[in-house]
Amino acid sequence: MKKGWRWRRRLLKRGGIRLAAVAAAALMALSARPAPSSAEAGIPAEQSRPAERVVAVVIDDFGNRMKGTDEMLRLPIPITAAVMPFLPTSQADAEAAHAAGREVIVHLPMEPVRGKPSWLGPRAILTALSDEEIRLRTEAAIADVPHAVGMNNHMGSRATADERVMRIVLQVCKERGLFFLDSRTSYKSVVPKLARQMGVPLLQNDLFLDDVYTDKHVGGQILLLKARVQKHDRTVVIGHVGPPGLITSGQLAAAIPALRQASVRFVKLSELLSPSGPYSLPGAELFGSASIGESEPGSKLPEESATSR
Ligand SMILES: [Zn+2]
Repeated sequence: MKKGWRWRRRLLKRGGIRLAAVAAAALMALSARPAPSSAEAGIPAEQSRPAERVVAVVIDDFGNRMKGTDEMLRLPIPITAAVMPFLPTSQADAEAAHAAGREVIVHLPMEPVRGKPSWLGPRAILTALSDEEIRLRTEAAIADVPHAVGMNNHMGSRATADERVMRIVLQVCKERGLFFLDSRTSYKSVVPKLARQMGVPLLQNDLFLDDVYTDKHVGGQILLLKARVQKHDRTVVIGHVGPPGLITSGQLAAAIPALRQASVRFVKLSELLSPSGPYSLPGAELFGSASIGESEPGSKLPEESATSR
């Protein structure tokens, strides 16, 4: 893991972003599609087995015993539990996820462009805070979520577009050895640029599963996932406990067999950082995709109602 990561970092420093992106894309293509063995070399491509597709399912908003908490942890795939700090069951939910063999990350509440403070939860990262306070809150959030190996943003369309704020948050992640998953609630996020500059391992959300709380919508997003895995080797999706928790866990449970049939392997989020496995560099083509939910504003959206009960 370290070796490949350093290589990319050197490349980024030396060659600039465009060169690095081209080279990394080539590298990803190579590592994602290994050369056929001599036994397979003579087989026409259409007769080869389909390439393995890797999907990481992240479930946000743990920490308040929200609807679907147990159902999500019982899914027969290695979900990653994003746990909000400073809530009544933050520690208990993180411990339960860890005990169930699930990966845990900190779900850091961050200021949106629009939205009520009550949607954010306690001790959120606000752009009006001092450097020192942002650092203190970020460190305290990590300390409040046991077993965390990474971090992603809860809401945060304003904060993730703020370079001063994100530089501090990412610096703390770097010091603590955490990767950062950009939930991508803003197209103006500075996280990809800063994470590259600072050498913080970065992943990005490709698809929100449940920004509308209906079976029809979540089922539609699962169809988008099924279509996406035909074209992409690696995908990160985000769902939620809370208002859509039972819908999303039910839809996921129902979809898992068919996705596995389509050569999907479900992995922990951190496995996407492996140099031999897929690595989610900022995918420019995804920013224009209508399939990425903007999780703010509008009170029906999960990112806002997470802590407003
Ligand atoms: Zn959230």
